[in-house]
Amino acid sequence: MVLFPFMAQGHIIPCLALALQLEQKTNCRIIIVNTPLNIRNIRSSLPPNTSIRLKELPFTSTDHGLPPDSENTDVLPYPLIMRLLDASKTLKQSFNKFVVDLTKQQDGNPPVCIIADMFLGWTVEIAKELGIFHSIFNTGGAYGTAIYYSLWIHLPHCKTTSDEFLLPDFPEASVIHRTQLANHLSNADGSDSWSIFNQSVLPLWFKSDGIIFNTIEGLEKTGLEYFRRNMTGRPVWCIGPVRCSSIRPQKKSGIGSDQCINWLDTHPPASVLFVSFGSQNSISCQQMMELAIGLEKSKKSFIWVIRPPLEFYLSEEFQSKWLPKGFEDRIKEGNRGLLVHKWAPQLEILSHRSTAAFLSHCGWNSTLESLIHGVPIIAWPLAGEQHYNSKFLVEVAGVCVEVARGNVSDIKHEDVVRVIELVMGGTEKGEDMRKKVTKVAEMIEDAIRDTDEGLKGSSVKALDKFIDAVLTKRCNSD
Ligand code: UDP
Repeated sequence: MVLFPFMAQGHIIPCLALALQLEQKTNCRIIIVNTPLNIRNIRSSLPPNTSIRLKELPFTSTDHGLPPDSENTDVLPYPLIMRLLDASKTLKQSFNKFVVDLTKQQDGNPPVCIIADMFLGWTVEIAKELGIFHSIFNTGGAYGTAIYYSLWIHLPHCKTTSDEFLLPDFPEASVIHRTQLANHLSNADGSDSWSIFNQSVLPLWFKSDGIIFNTIEGLEKTGLEYFRRNMTGRPVWCIGPVRCSSIRPQKKSGIGSDQCINWLDTHPPASVLFVSFGSQNSISCQQMMELAIGLEKSKKSFIWVIRPPLEFYLSEEFQSKWLPKGFEDRIKEGNRGLLVHKWAPQLEILSHRSTAAFLSHCGWNSTLESLIHGVPIIAWPLAGEQHYNSKFLVEVAGVCVEVARGNVSDIKHEDVVRVIELVMGGTEKGEDMRKKVTKVAEMIEDAIRDTDEGLKGSSVKALDKFIDAVLTKRCNSD
């Protein structure tokens, strides 16, 4: 089985978790393919006892107008992410060669399947040509990804001057508002690089033999129906949340796991707000200032993972003006706040009993990690399908309130104080969110249940079905 994630933490981490599950459940040899620096990081993230093999495809970031040694979105300023997406298409030739060579080494037997990232849809063409079973691994949520797909394919906002509009093929999403268009979408007209990339690569999903979703059956019904309609009978497997505590992303953190947990241990249960915008997104300088003042004024304890603001990469003027004067010293008083630079042990924080809420950009992995631990969300979606994950969490699941949208919104610290109070201040709304998120957490627990007595949840059964589909196809072709 060959797995090929896109070069971003939010894609690599779930792919490694899936690879480890496949290793456990099958006798197949598992190979993960990626660019050299990502392979190096993957090697040190995997547990030592795994037999998963890794394969480097040649890649030099500077050949694509990227800074030296930039092979992952987590080291790129956001405006350069499109270049990495475009550059990923140039891996087609070397990936093709790798699969052909592998087939020769195995006496003419091709790999049993290729599982490729949602952004690497072009792999389906190679799989079809070589007669290999192909599946897309969609690391986003089904509801959010359905809206994201529909928006890019139809660009419906270009056809209307109204601030609100409907999606032609996903009426279940009801109204989309212009403020829910991430930067690239609001500027898209079909001829820009984001439109060209998305309109050429995303439709390839529906040529695949199936789509694996990192979600659970029943959680995002309308989103899943959308994909099933488009797959016209071919399967959509909900196998999530894929997780594996033995994966250790090798990221430089400003803080050790123990230090973070010790800090949380000193706080009462359900009293701390966790704030993070994921592995690659940033907010603006002005927004960081307002967020900091809001956090301070809220009087709640918090852990905030800070990344340089957007302007950091544009002008030296901003390189030291991210936070209010004296902020770091003031929040240390009475252990009020903890700032973590760049990378924090997110799973450990979300699973700690002191964590009460998560102010999140609503990346799908962060969303799942919050839901599974029963932590309600304060949404500040920034990019990609995050606005629609947030829409789902607010309108469908009822476990979330939004505080802001995007990295240009004119947020005021009063907004931050208001939503923190709403979610953590013992209000009726906060209690309702907590009840609903606890139900979702139970639903997820049921889906991933796999007992020695043979009780299997829907996600476990779905992964079994995926493996069956792959191996049956192989037997039939043998
Ligand atoms: N993550 C983490 N520590 C951080 C930032 C991110 O462990 O400080 C992990 C997080 O737990 C999640 C992934 O990185 O598994 C981020 O994926 P997500 O889809 O939430 O957002 P993205 O980074 O892709 O925008």
